[in-house]
Amino acid sequence: MLRFASLASGSDGNALVIEAREAGAAASTCVLVDCGLNLRDTERRLARHGLEPSAIRGILVTHEHGDHAGCVFDFAAAHGVTVYLTHGSLIALQDEGKVIDGVRLSILTSREPLAIDGLEVRPFTVPHDAREPVQFVLSDGAARLGVLTDIGIGTPHVVEALAGLDALVLECNYDRDMLWNGAYPRWLKERIAGPFGHLDNEDSARLLAALERSRLKHVVAAHLSQKNNRAELARRALAGALGCEESWIGIATQDDGFAWREA
Ligand SMILES: [Zn+2]
Ligand SMILES: [Zn+2]
Repeated sequence: MLRFASLASGSDGNALVIEAREAGAAASTCVLVDCGLNLRDTERRLARHGLEPSAIRGILVTHEHGDHAGCVFDFAAAHGVTVYLTHGSLIALQDEGKVIDGVRLSILTSREPLAIDGLEVRPFTVPHDAREPVQFVLSDGAARLGVLTDIGIGTPHVVEALAGLDALVLECNYDRDMLWNGAYPRWLKERIAGPFGHLDNEDSARLLAALERSRLKHVVAAHLSQKNNRAELARRALAGALGCEESWIGIATQDDGFAWREA
């Protein structure tokens, strides 16, 4: 059984929790992908999803930006959790003084999958303005969940990495008109819309349409900008790509993330 939920999603902080449990087994494997909330908020939201911090076996870090990595070392130090991250993310976090001595580290590379107990993790590279960003496909050996946020442009490599998923958490960062007509300074608009920034709703819809998705049972739009996007616009774009009901597309919110789903 593979299930997943979000504690929060958006530019104020991201954290996704994934649990793998073998049929009939008492114990399960729980990991976080990113931890960009503060420590108390992370603990409170884990409790809301029925989890103790001690249940978390590891934190997989996509990249060093504060909305993803801001609380990684605080949480890991407080609860004795291993941090899995690329060498580039580690160096960037060291440069920012965010790395806490004594926290167990495991260095990821996009060339090699890894196993955390019963959970198989495949990191893959993405174009984003960070030192060595990755995103992940996670599997319990049966179902596969893809996580893709913070990517400037869909690439053939990403389309290949996300083929044959059962579930996908997919960035829908902004609506193009809302961004360009909005109040952000020009340099920031160009950064967000650039090839190392974020996906807009139409980019995400095109990427989704390009995937091999014969097994796909869940699509959740994530990392929506609170200033430059609206849930109904993201839903409409992704539903258009799939030819499905708009209500079938899930939304990950900044305040609540989303509830458990089973892949
Ligand atoms: Zn982000
Ligand atoms: Zn980022």
